[in-house]
Amino acid sequence: MPMIFEAIWRNRLIHPEQIHTDHPLVIGRSAEAPPIDLESLRQVHTDRYLKALFTGEPLHLATSQGLPFWNESIARGWLLNVGGLYAAAKTALVKKTITANLGHGYHHATANRGSGFCTINGLVVVAHKLIREGMAKQVMIIDLDQHEGNGTAECIIGHSRIWNVSIFGSPMGGPPTSENNRVFQVQHGMFEIGERRDVHYLAVISEILPKLIKHQNPDLILYQAGMDPYDSAGITKKALAIRDAYVFALARLLHIPVTWVLAGGYSDMDTLIELHTGTVRMAHEVLAKVNPGDRMTHRGITPYEWNVQDGTFSFPDWTSLLSGKLQMDQPPFMRESHIKEFIKSRNALFKEEKLPDDKIDSAYRRLFSWKPLP
Ligand SMILES: [Zn+2]
Repeated sequence: MPMIFEAIWRNRLIHPEQIHTDHPLVIGRSAEAPPIDLESLRQVHTDRYLKALFTGEPLHLATSQGLPFWNESIARGWLLNVGGLYAAAKTALVKKTITANLGHGYHHATANRGSGFCTINGLVVVAHKLIREGMAKQVMIIDLDQHEGNGTAECIIGHSRIWNVSIFGSPMGGPPTSENNRVFQVQHGMFEIGERRDVHYLAVISEILPKLIKHQNPDLILYQAGMDPYDSAGITKKALAIRDAYVFALARLLHIPVTWVLAGGYSDMDTLIELHTGTVRMAHEVLAKVNPGDRMTHRGITPYEWNVQDGTFSFPDWTSLLSGKLQMDQPPFMRESHIKEFIKSRNALFKEEKLPDDKIDSAYRRLFSWKPLP
């Protein structure tokens, strides 16, 4: 993350005034967001799990995301990361713009344990907080990581104001589809790597996203801009760049602010920096070129080019370029009784893992005892 930040700063990818950090490169600035509050964490995660994250005990739970050890500094980092995501989302809502938190969304984390290096499901924690505070009525999480956003799905079922749209290549065993949990597995392997596979991926995204965004009509999009389709599914850098431009442009056209986070990506460091800063470039480009209310057409025949002219921005018509069927699977919808059962067992889990308020509160406060909490 620091290296991605340094690349953004050194290359002046966005205006210095738009950067909030206490990184030593940025002299004289201290805009570190406060850690996420305990109440918001308790909406999504169980007390037993949170206490493990705050204290390191039991260790198997504190390291259930897959890290080799626990310490207080790492624990503070988790909470500061989600605090940063909240600050970025609030700014996006207030300024009606695109913002980012150079941290992760942690889409595999579930209510009572971590998984796949994801500790706290920041996406869901922040969505809940914004709704509780009246900053947003509806929030959509768009997850374009190569892996299914299974933790997010588990956390949002039954919370109708938060939607999870996960378009992935690798399933992670998440729950089936429901009204607010839309999951699509793309069959990348049916297309040869290169333009054909890219066009298919982009066609899938352009077929799914506009309909669902218009259907839910969210006040904010939290975008998990996963870069692992590059190394895990053979999607090219050019395709990921125009994918991000498309998501940002689509949201802007519909007057919906976006906050994006880093996700996935397992290449060498230089490639990773190039991929993630690509999202920064696209966000910047869309903000500069696209105005809310502009129109969008699909007519280009070059799969990686988009442009804006007289308030109309044109993206390639990937569906026609594909000239074939979309190859993706959507799990069946959960039955109403299944959803009720799911919510019932989650409620039971929260009850079972509940701790007295003062116990969890003091564990949280001890982590930040050297500075006042908000
Ligand atoms: Zn991933």
